[in-house]
This record gives sequence, C-alpha cells and structure tokens, in this order.
Amino acid sequence: MADQQLLQTTIAGSLPKPSWLAEPEKLWAPWRLAGDDLAAGKRDATLIWLKEQEDSGIDIVTDGEQSRIHFVHGFLERIEGIDWAKKTKMGIRNNRYEVDVPTVTGPVKRRGPVHSDEMRFARAHTGRKLKVELPGPMTICDTIADAHYGRRADMAMAFARILNEEARELAELGVDVVQLDEPAFNAFMDEVKEWGVAALDEAVKGIDCKTAVHICYGYGIDANIKWKETLGSEWRQYEEIFPALNRSRVNQVSLECAGSKVPMSLIALLKDKEIMVGAIDVATNKVETPQEVASVLRSAMKYAGVERIYPCTNCGLAPLPRDVAAGKLKALGAGAALLRKELGGQ
Ligand SMILES: [Zn+2]
Repeated sequence: MADQQLLQTTIAGSLPKPSWLAEPEKLWAPWRLAGDDLAAGKRDATLIWLKEQEDSGIDIVTDGEQSRIHFVHGFLERIEGIDWAKKTKMGIRNNRYEVDVPTVTGPVKRRGPVHSDEMRFARAHTGRKLKVELPGPMTICDTIADAHYGRRADMAMAFARILNEEARELAELGVDVVQLDEPAFNAFMDEVKEWGVAALDEAVKGIDCKTAVHICYGYGIDANIKWKETLGSEWRQYEEIFPALNRSRVNQVSLECAGSKVPMSLIALLKDKEIMVGAIDVATNKVETPQEVASVLRSAMKYAGVERIYPCTNCGLAPLPRDVAAGKLKALGAGAALLRKELGGQ
C-alpha cells in the first residue's frame, strides 16, 4: 500500500469475539476459556480478525481488542492503586447507565506494560499499518470511582501520565497509530474544555507515531439508543468541543457520521486534523452497501479535503453478530474503493 493512497480505511477498534472465546453479542461477556487455552484463544481470534480486515481492504488494522473484556477495564486491570473489591455504583456517561465500578484508593501506577504482548503478536502477523486503542483519561475517570484524588481533573492527569508511558512503549513496538477512546467527551462538554483536552494532550505527548482520539455516541446498545433519542434533530455536542480539539496535539479525530444526526458541516471546525469519518453504523445489524458508505464519505468531502479523510466505523463493532461485523468491514473497504476509483485514483 502506497502511503499516499487516498481514503485509507480503518475501524474504531473493537470487533466481536468468536463464540468459542466469549459469549457473543454482549458487552462485558466473560471468557469461555481459561489459563493457557485462553491465551491461545485470544491469539487465534486476533489472527482471524487481522485476516478478515486485510481481505476486506482495511488499510489500518487493529487486533479487534480480542484480548480485553472491556476497553476501559482491560487497561485498568494492570494498574496499581485500584481496589477491585471496593465497588461503587456509579451513573456513567452523565448517568446514562449505572455500573458497579472499582474504586481508586491510592496513587495510580502501571505494574508494567499492559498491551505490549498483544501488540507484539499483532505486529508480527500483519504487514498493514497497525492501530492500538487505549481508553482516554476522561473516559477512565468516568468509569471508575475516586476515593483518593478528590478532583476528577487531577485523577485524569495521573491516568494521562501512565497512558503516555504505555503509548510510548507501543509506538516503539511498531504500532503506527495510538488512539485514545473518549466517548465521555460527548457527555461532559464543559469539562472537556476545562481539563479533558489537556489530559488528552498529556497522554499523547512525545509519542513517536500518529495519535488519534475517538469520540462517539457509544456502542449500539439500548441505553445509548434511548439517549440519542433525547438529543434532538441535530446533534451538536461536537460543535462545543471541536475548537479545543483542533488546538490539541492529537493528529486524528474519529467521529460518528453514519446514520447519526451530527451535521457533517461540524468537521469544518477540525481544519488542522485528519478525520476518521464514521461511515458504518454500529447500532444496526443491516450491512451497508458500498454505495451508502461512499455517499457518507462524499458528504464529508464537502467540508474536509479528501487527503485528510480516513473512512472508518462509527464505533466498535464488538456487540454485533460476527457475520454482520465481517459484512460491515467488507462494505467499508468496498465503499472506499468505489470512491477512490471515482476520483480517478488507484
Ligand atoms: Zn465509540
């Protein structure tokens, strides 16, 4: 793949786990294997999805997060200062849903590398560009209770520093893009401006590869679908935070554009960023046609030059049936290819 190729495709990150690894179509599904079998199962599932992505024409691939039960807690499991037995009931994403979350009871610190083994394995098995996803500092703070720092901004900065250590190591292993997932950015717009972007900047500081932030309206689960119904005819959350985000260090911003009520014109506020345009809806099992994908991308091109556009999914595909997710990968690859051809490119 030539580096100059237009419309390089990628995905937000997660993909469904095969049914022999975890219960399908469920977030937080427990593992169906244990010990060495589980370790081998995670690697096998990673190989399956690397191949599916390559065959679908995805240019910047991920490991599909096959080694994590959940995108936030998969990271926190290796962090000191967290009491997992001390559960606190918390309304997360601005009380959109209640979860029993673990509690921070002391200074947070990495016990060692968190995702290095997985990324070393994925790197050894694909020649494509490779992306890794880490939970963003604000989203971590919205998914864990605090009994130590006192201020969310302080706890976020502490997490940002350990995310930065982790991200630097992953870049050294040959990861091409480090992405921070910040769904909480759409729920706490004032805090994003006060300290969220500053924490994000701290997390991506000095990393020797591209950096990205994914901001979405959540997985296609009931609580999120109901929340979206309350947001009115135009979703303008991005409008409040994009100016601050455009000034941030991060190179790429990932947005939800397919089947959403986000006015596409808002991406004009990100004039200095590369834009991962979500052209695959994760809230429906209906597989898009390549023409539908191309149509979303074409409308994005009215507000951002094609050289800054990366066709992507709205969010992770993890809760979808496996065949639907595979179909959506193919639609994404084919839609981008269609548009490339139309533009007279490769
Ligand atoms: Zn998302």
